[in-house]
Amino acid sequence: MATIHVLDETTINKIAAGEVVERPASVVKELIENSIDAGATSIEIEIGEGGSAYMRITDNGKGMTEEDARLAVLRHATSKIQSVEDLFDIASLGFRGEALASIASVSHFVLTTRTVEQDLGTRILIDGGTFTDCIPYGSAPGTTIEVKELFFNTPARRKFLKTERTESSKIQDIVGKLALSNPHIAFKLTIDDRVAIITPGSGSIQDTVAALYGYKTKNDIFPIAYESEHIYIEGVVSKPTLLKSTRIWQTIIVNNRVISDKTILKAIDNAYHALLPKSGYPLVLLHITVPASMVDINVHPRKSEVKFEDDKIIFKAVYHAILNALNNPLHERYERESS
Ligand code: ADP
Ligand code: MG
Repeated sequence: MATIHVLDETTINKIAAGEVVERPASVVKELIENSIDAGATSIEIEIGEGGSAYMRITDNGKGMTEEDARLAVLRHATSKIQSVEDLFDIASLGFRGEALASIASVSHFVLTTRTVEQDLGTRILIDGGTFTDCIPYGSAPGTTIEVKELFFNTPARRKFLKTERTESSKIQDIVGKLALSNPHIAFKLTIDDRVAIITPGSGSIQDTVAALYGYKTKNDIFPIAYESEHIYIEGVVSKPTLLKSTRIWQTIIVNNRVISDKTILKAIDNAYHALLPKSGYPLVLLHITVPASMVDINVHPRKSEVKFEDDKIIFKAVYHAILNALNNPLHERYERESS
């Protein structure tokens, strides 16, 4: 008898879930990214008990037909790429077609969706990866996904979750960062029935920063506008006196993706180095746009890291963008206009 066997679909999904779904905040991130890809202008997130009791993400995006909804929850099912060639010029945030299948394999999962063209929507229920129901369902156009009791069937992972407070603050952090990368989308996050984040969706980066970090910060931030060697950088920097003890106010967005990158953090630190009155981390929001050929986004299953063709060019651009913004003679005018 052979000792090798091919794993069944449910097991494969659970293993994949280990890569994509590390904790409640990664579920929230994947679901919001789907809503963004679906063209939503409003995204509401409700969570209970640090996300481990429930997470509900509601968008007003394009929704899905019943046929598409049934496909969406299958592994490697995506509407976003056709072939590997598309990976080199990708416009959407998702592309692996793994998130929904993975999340549904480790939770009680309910997908409710409707396109504008249809009178009636569709509701699909999946329990721990087992498809349990698909019914016609009356709902507003758009999509709602509910994820209940995450990791209920993988106790080792559930045990690994931190306190409710820690998991909630990780969710709040990622929602804030996605709101900053999408100032044209109105976000609302409710944690245990308390509103934690609400952004206007006006399209203004400054308004979004102010909504997240307090309207007082508006007087202490300057806009970045930088362009060199096909690298475009927008965003805001704060006066060197507006400091936090951690990097919680530093957000890096590359080609619309929130990422972490050591080179860019180092460029931020270097630019501020001589200016900081005491140790701490200023508010920095970078929207970096580079040609697709200069960056590989496909290096990490959670897509939280990217690989630049040339780190030095990125370093230089970020460093100068920040210094220019801090030394810009237009500051006074800007301050007057924004106050
Ligand atoms: P990916 O985002 O990598 O394509 P997912 O598993 O996250 O994979 O989603 C699978 C597919 O389901 C997407 O390609 C998309 O067509 C559809 N989908 C998921 N979420 C939504 C949503 N909120 N609104 C509309 N379509 C969605
Ligand atoms: Mg996705």
